[in-house]
Amino acid sequence: MDNKNRFNDIKNHWAESVINEAYDLALVEGYDDGTFKPDQQCSRAEVTVLGLNIYKQLEILIDKKKVKPTIPTRTIVVDAGHGGKDRANIDPFGLGYVEADGNLKFCLALKKYLSPYFKVILTRETDIFLTWTERAMVAVNNKADMFVSIHSDAYKKNIGQGVTVFDSVARKNEALGSKIGLAIAEANNTVFRGVKERPSTFNPILDYYTVMNVAQVNNVPIIFLIERGFHTYFKDCQALLDTDMIELSAKSMANEVIAYYSKNT
Ligand SMILES: [Zn+2]
Repeated sequence: MDNKNRFNDIKNHWAESVINEAYDLALVEGYDDGTFKPDQQCSRAEVTVLGLNIYKQLEILIDKKKVKPTIPTRTIVVDAGHGGKDRANIDPFGLGYVEADGNLKFCLALKKYLSPYFKVILTRETDIFLTWTERAMVAVNNKADMFVSIHSDAYKKNIGQGVTVFDSVARKNEALGSKIGLAIAEANNTVFRGVKERPSTFNPILDYYTVMNVAQVNNVPIIFLIERGFHTYFKDCQALLDTDMIELSAKSMANEVIAYYSKNT
């Protein structure tokens, strides 16, 4: 339709072009008789329609701009520490925290958030026992790009708190480990103790943690063991048990991993 003929009562009105532009954007409409009545007061219903029209157009605009990150096919193996006969690590406060279960809940949430972007394999999805070597070999056999073993920490009651990320002594990924550690600590409302390494006491080029070492000697490129907090520290333990915090910390960690592979294609 020709702009000039769109409404029969706006010609030479000071807002003529603006009204036509708003019509083209599907924000405003005229009346059935072909008029716009540019100087008539708005009713509440008309303002509501205008507001909704603006909202709809914004939604369309935002949707057009959404671009999914291009991430190549990567395999991430996530290991929920302990389980099965190994259920000894419990909290000293009687809150009912069992490390084996807490680790599994976090890993299942992490899988949910990573799965849209990566091939994600859990070493266990139920309460079963696996040796350290068996866990690492899941990563090795699946040619994992990243292997993450999930734990919670323990020390004397209410002494020591926060998140620790252990990095492989041979394949260092400190920057990513730091981002992941900070993200989990923030979600759990606790401190980040930093990215650490723990070399073997027999051979410093090997990892103390068997689960990391088996992955390391078999060339998995990124290996972390993450202590998500101290179940021996009351506030950390509450966070480790809290469903919302488990979800948020898993989602926050997943976002860092997604961002990492979005940049490092
Ligand atoms: Zn553990």
